[in-house]
Amino acid sequence: MKIDSHVHIFPDYRTKGLIRWMRKAFPQHPIPLGYTWRQVVEDLRNEGIERFFSFHFPLTPSETGFLNRFALKVASQTPGMVPFFSFHADNSHLSDLLSWWLGRESIFWGVKLHPFVQGFDPWDERLFSAYEWLEEHGYPLFLHTGFDDLYGKSMPPEKIAGILKRFPRLRLVVVHMFYPRFQEAFALLEEGEEVYLDVTNVFSYIDMDWPTGVRKALDLDWFWDEIEGWSHRLMFGSDHPAGAGTLREVYAVLERWGLSSHAKINLRGATALRLLKSVGYPLDPSDLS
Ligand SMILES: [Zn+2]
Repeated sequence: MKIDSHVHIFPDYRTKGLIRWMRKAFPQHPIPLGYTWRQVVEDLRNEGIERFFSFHFPLTPSETGFLNRFALKVASQTPGMVPFFSFHADNSHLSDLLSWWLGRESIFWGVKLHPFVQGFDPWDERLFSAYEWLEEHGYPLFLHTGFDDLYGKSMPPEKIAGILKRFPRLRLVVVHMFYPRFQEAFALLEEGEEVYLDVTNVFSYIDMDWPTGVRKALDLDWFWDEIEGWSHRLMFGSDHPAGAGTLREVYAVLERWGLSSHAKINLRGATALRLLKSVGYPLDPSDLS
């Protein structure tokens, strides 16, 4: 079973915005501006992906309802799509919002936030009622972290560790592993048993040496050992259509890193499956093969 644990399913106007942003940062990016979520799903199918985590995030509070409904509509016609909820810090009554959308029916399997793009800090106290709700109900929070240089913003790992101190049972997925502050990411795994790392983009950007000097600064043997040792808490996704290349290129990067088959099985689905199982996701026999 192969799972892609990081894909973006957006309506066309937002897919276009995402790709435009990627092409501004990386003019050679191979995904054309007119790409749609249907092509994203087709690419996944062509690579043999049977299940994928789908993320979106509203840029304004008024976009929240529309995007979540859009995700549900696409999920209803797309087998294997596992939709994640999102909201904005400016939305009011967050815990009510979560209990309405997540608690009533099992249709979303956690929350994704991208604070850099959404324009708030993850340690903003207005979010605490949502964190409390997630902690209590066991749904994971996928939080974008890292790539501060790319966004021109700052999200210090110690601030994220502070959130975990306050909500110690929160199932927190540190998306992109505080790139490139990997030491802090692995350290966080020791602090909470329910902490996971999403390694999406990490190998690709190290390979690209982005930003320049990252490779030289990184003890690759140490890094490789940590990945192997923690693989049961690591998930790999493509970030398609905003990954570091075409979907095939992104998947090929993982192969190049020469990880053990045990680690690869965890990164490419087993960890994600365990997480899904823990929130009551209805797995079917093919998931376990
Ligand atoms: Zn992403």
